[in-house]
Amino acid sequence: MMEGLLRAALEDAGVFEDTAVLFLVAGEPPGDASEYAYLPPGAWGNLEARVLRDVGARLGEFSDFHRFGAYANLVAVPEGAIAVGLRHEAEHAVQFNQYGRDLFDLESILRRTMRRAGRMEHYTSTPSEREANRAASEYAHVRYADNIDAMAADERFRHLVEEPQPVANLLDETVATIWEYVDRAATDDEDTNRRSFGVVVPELKQGATEHVPFEPRHRVRRAEGQPFVVEIQP
Ligand SMILES: [Zn+2]
Repeated sequence: MMEGLLRAALEDAGVFEDTAVLFLVAGEPPGDASEYAYLPPGAWGNLEARVLRDVGARLGEFSDFHRFGAYANLVAVPEGAIAVGLRHEAEHAVQFNQYGRDLFDLESILRRTMRRAGRMEHYTSTPSEREANRAASEYAHVRYADNIDAMAADERFRHLVEEPQPVANLLDETVATIWEYVDRAATDDEDTNRRSFGVVVPELKQGATEHVPFEPRHRVRRAEGQPFVVEIQP
């Protein structure tokens, strides 16, 4: 079921299915872990989502692809919420295709500075989250209209069916949001050269602005024998 829902979400988002992989982790989400998560192409330290940490080393076999992790057993979640949640995650793949890695480096600075400011509750209102939630909400209204009331009543899924403020310029707004949580003069202690955020952030923004999306014929595709779904036994 999950496979079909992700294929539909990717198609709706305009992300080619053969540029993505779904890792299905056996079992239910442990504790309050998120049901699913997205990991962009590339190598990333400090995976925040439990489901991605549960996938573990096999993520590295597919580092050229959009990676989606999900728990296989989501009995406690209505199908509509899974479908719409995957559409949210697929929108992050759209953002990657448009802006490349630099956007996600800006995102991780934003999350880090937000966490240090003790403001993680603001996370769903960041520009990239608002965009993903708007895409999810539109998808829900078109395909799962009967499920909307139930999702709106469930705090796990409410953000997927609300209509947050539209994002006019994802890069400008992401950068502006970073400055709400950190001073430009502060040292970015994850930067190799320990430069200030006032240097690192504009450089990433410039990189994202200059990112040229792959033309469809040049995109990395799964090779013959590389599956869309990879099952993981944690
Ligand atoms: Zn998101």
